[in-house]
Amino acid sequence: MKIHEYQSRDLLEKYGIPIALGQVVFSTAEAAGAFKKFANPSCVAKVQVLMGGRGKAGGVIHVHTAEEAEAFCSRFLGKPFSTYQSAGESKIVHAVLISEDRRIDEEYYLGIAIDRAHDQPVILFSREGGVEIEEVAIAKPEAITRIYFSYTNLPTKEQIFSQIRKQFSEDKIPSQIADIAAKLALLFMEKDVSLCEINPLALCGGSTIIALDAKIVFDDNALFRHLDVAAMKDPDEEDERERKAKEVGLNYVSMGGNVGCLVNGAGLAMATMDMIKMAGGEPSNFLDVGGGATADQVREGFKIILQDPRVEAILVNIFGGIMKCDVIAEGVIQASREIDLKVPLVVRLEGTRVDEGRDLLKNSGLQIISCRTIKEAAQVSVQKAAEYRAQHVHSR
Ligand code: GDP
Ligand code: MN
Repeated sequence: MKIHEYQSRDLLEKYGIPIALGQVVFSTAEAAGAFKKFANPSCVAKVQVLMGGRGKAGGVIHVHTAEEAEAFCSRFLGKPFSTYQSAGESKIVHAVLISEDRRIDEEYYLGIAIDRAHDQPVILFSREGGVEIEEVAIAKPEAITRIYFSYTNLPTKEQIFSQIRKQFSEDKIPSQIADIAAKLALLFMEKDVSLCEINPLALCGGSTIIALDAKIVFDDNALFRHLDVAAMKDPDEEDERERKAKEVGLNYVSMGGNVGCLVNGAGLAMATMDMIKMAGGEPSNFLDVGGGATADQVREGFKIILQDPRVEAILVNIFGGIMKCDVIAEGVIQASREIDLKVPLVVRLEGTRVDEGRDLLKNSGLQIISCRTIKEAAQVSVQKAAEYRAQHVHSR
């Protein structure tokens, strides 16, 4: 889960990390008041959307008068915004941050991420801030200092200082950065963060270090123990299909391939995805309809899969243990009728009431391909998806 910059700022402040003074506004009417409070004599106005690259897209500007602050708000609030990092997607701006305009001497990068190859969190620091760290990592990897640590043994300010000091010729600046990095590591651990970035961490007025941007991503699986964090969730920012699935009690994760999967049980869902890959295909999603799903839920799951325009075939793979095969068959038939299913549908049923289920499918009058084994079902659905693509490639 991601939170907005204005929310991240509050969290940094709670951990004693210096940030620029400022205020978030949700309407143009608040803009002049906020401007007057923080103008020195200008302010920085920043759109609050969960995407990087706002600066380059015109979403971060200096405003010199209350009128300019208002103009910025009325230009962006309630309107779609996108950047080169948002992959063609746009998001509606609901808030603008108006902060004092600090004069920046240098822009640094400070982040903490989990390095899965090392099985450890790592502090990343670079003097080359204000630009994308991925670019620095490729062009000038030696410009990034990496400090690995463990959750049970957080790095001290002194330990961080001894590493970061190498990038500077004096002590005062790296000492402040080390202090901030140590506080950020505590936040990272205590709040179950999976990624946080301060870019830029700015040197202002020749000697003071301030966080001028903040991006924090939390581990969704730990949100239950951070109700303060969970409360900051912006419902607009969720994947539309994942949100819909949660609403109807289904466990759906979008994967990006072209074979939609509807499976009962997380283990079987993973195995099904593996089988699709082994058959040379790409699953569109993970979808576990659970052990006791109703026909209604199956129908909803089906609709959610079909909302992804990349889907070129659907594979339903159900082992009827608690769940009965005829219930699944009913849901599949209902959904196919309601949605006017265009893509090929492959169904593999096994277990309780399997014969009743297969009969229902066979007698439905719908074009449903029934398979006996997972392997066969995976191969057939990958093949049918390819055929569907070949037939429809010109019309899309
Ligand atoms: P991003 O492009 O979405 O990462 O947005 P940032 O918050 O990093 O803003 C982009 C750039 O705007 C930064 O690299 C800074 O150069 C500048 N900037 C951001 N905040 C401030 C600020 O408070 N004062 C000044 N002077 N510049 C800022
Ligand atoms: Mn930034």
